[in-house]
Amino acid sequence: DSLGHSAGDEVLVEVARRVGSVLRGGDLAARLGGDELVVACADLSSPAEVEPIAQRILEAIALPLLVADHVLHLTVSIGVATGGVGATALRLVRDADRAMYRAKRGGKARYEVGDDSLAALAIRQIEVYDGLHRALEEDQLRLVYQPVVDLVSDRVVAVEALLRWEHPERGLLAPGEFIDVAESRELIVPMGRWVLAQAARQGALWAERYGDAAPQMWVNVSDRQVGRHDLAGAVREVLEESGLPARLLGIELTERQLMRTGDSARADLRAVRDLGVPLAIDDFGTGHTGIEYLRELPVAVLKIDRSFVEGLGTDRTSTALTDALITLGHGLGLTVTAEGVETEGQLAMLRGWGCDRVQGYLLSRPRSAEDLEPYLAERVGPGPGR
Ligand code: C2E
Ligand code: CA
Ligand code: CA
Repeated sequence: DSLGHSAGDEVLVEVARRVGSVLRGGDLAARLGGDELVVACADLSSPAEVEPIAQRILEAIALPLLVADHVLHLTVSIGVATGGVGATALRLVRDADRAMYRAKRGGKARYEVGDDSLAALAIRQIEVYDGLHRALEEDQLRLVYQPVVDLVSDRVVAVEALLRWEHPERGLLAPGEFIDVAESRELIVPMGRWVLAQAARQGALWAERYGDAAPQMWVNVSDRQVGRHDLAGAVREVLEESGLPARLLGIELTERQLMRTGDSARADLRAVRDLGVPLAIDDFGTGHTGIEYLRELPVAVLKIDRSFVEGLGTDRTSTALTDALITLGHGLGLTVTAEGVETEGQLAMLRGWGCDRVQGYLLSRPRSAEDLEPYLAERVGPGPGR
């Protein structure tokens, strides 16, 4: 700046030339603005390979530079971020930026490799992603079922299918360990198709066994499965394959995901409804947005998120909100299910407010079809003395 504008330009040109001269064939250098450059290195086989490149850049910049009759000694600070499955350009730049500030704080002419936890996360995602592919092919996926109890009849009227991964080394994994990775890619589509087919098969077995009183089978789907991937088509196929009556299948989609859906997804959801399969909004109350979409979507059931039920009786806001959500659901003519019921106290309050259905550890944990059998045998169908 002290040598004038054109001297500044000359410095930039020379720095860019030097950075370019130490990069490898497929690498890309660009100027973000001001004195910030970005270098993208594709095809590294490990994050460690970036270090010699950073070192070469530091050395190239450190050579004296002659501009406007002055000899300048420049330094740069470099922040390195490594990506993996799910990494976006935006996130890479943001992580690199953070690492650069750490490098700056650490002194002149240094580089810092982005947060180790991020690199570890990227590696975990790659491992999970590869593993999930194998899980599908090698039949390591399982479904467990959690009963949903009707509060008027006290009978089991539905079950929710929940996915598990029987990992060859890590044991039985819950969706929290892997579903985000599957959802970040199209992998959720074939996985979700497997879940639908498997759940429908089990639902059909229970339909045969319990007849008119058979529990509905509710299946979680991800927004990726809706719209372009023709959820209605997949639902129609699994109904035909399994023989499960449409009214005994239900589809759950979280409020967060529902709100992201576009026109084609909404048309797809209506097509699902037109097959006779009801739709539930999962984790209701966590979407942080207006509820006008409720008018446009073919929803039959509201599932009040566990986070509200958790605070019943102890947290004033949760208590008031749960009451209000039940009233809202009923005002819209919907069935209201409360999730995550763990105590008798919670159950009593929900009953008092006229909540239709409950689900939670108090009634039953999710279990394999086989382990759930005795529970169902006792609680499906008309109750004793009815
Ligand atoms: P979700 O649909 O809200 O499912 C309820 C979760 O709460 C389940 O966790 C269930 O085990 C747990 N839960 C039920 N009752 C209680 C309770 O009383 N207390 C507590 N603390 N937890 C309870 P899970 O099985 O780990 O599933 C987590 C999430 O993963 C699900 O949340 C759902 O969003 C997703 N998920 C599960 N299976 C599938 C699937 O097949 N496809 C897709 N796309 N997502 C799935
Ligand atoms: Ca659910
Ligand atoms: Ca839920």
